[in-house]
Amino acid sequence: MSTRPRFWETVPLKKMTPEEWEALCDGCGKCCLNKIEDADTGEVFLTRVACRLLDDQSCQCGQYQIRKNLVPECIQLSPETIETHAYWMPVTCAYRLLWQGRELPDWHPLLTGDPESVHAAGVSVRGRTVPEFEVDEDEWEDYIIEEPS
Ligand code: SF4
Ligand code: SF4
Repeated sequence: MSTRPRFWETVPLKKMTPEEWEALCDGCGKCCLNKIEDADTGEVFLTRVACRLLDDQSCQCGQYQIRKNLVPECIQLSPETIETHAYWMPVTCAYRLLWQGRELPDWHPLLTGDPESVHAAGVSVRGRTVPEFEVDEDEWEDYIIEEPS
């Protein structure tokens, strides 16, 4: 089944087909970065320290099919789990934005028709990450990145 025209504007997250759900991902790669969560405030900070399976150029998982075997803590985002995870998702993430009742940004590939537009807009992690095996966890705070709001 193909996606419905501009489905993201009319179809609630929980009513989307698997294909529509997948199409929401802009391919930015930011959910595959390690985060620091402030235990007191609950604030979440993204770092440039990437999961060991993230490909820094494609911004895709290098072993998507078997990732759960290699990275057990990897989160599978779904219409059922978005509510639990939205708070730590990147601020530009389409799942988070739609869950918040907001619109997709104009650089989103669903609007541009071009998967490269997320990279051209400077929103993705392409060329910005360091692998987690190169940085000790107690140094992650030196790698915090600022997100566009
Ligand atoms: S942050 Fe959201 S849009 Fe970006 S790769 Fe992850 S799931 Fe896709
Ligand atoms: S295992 Fe793959 S999908 Fe999961 S966080 Fe790592 S790179 Fe991302």
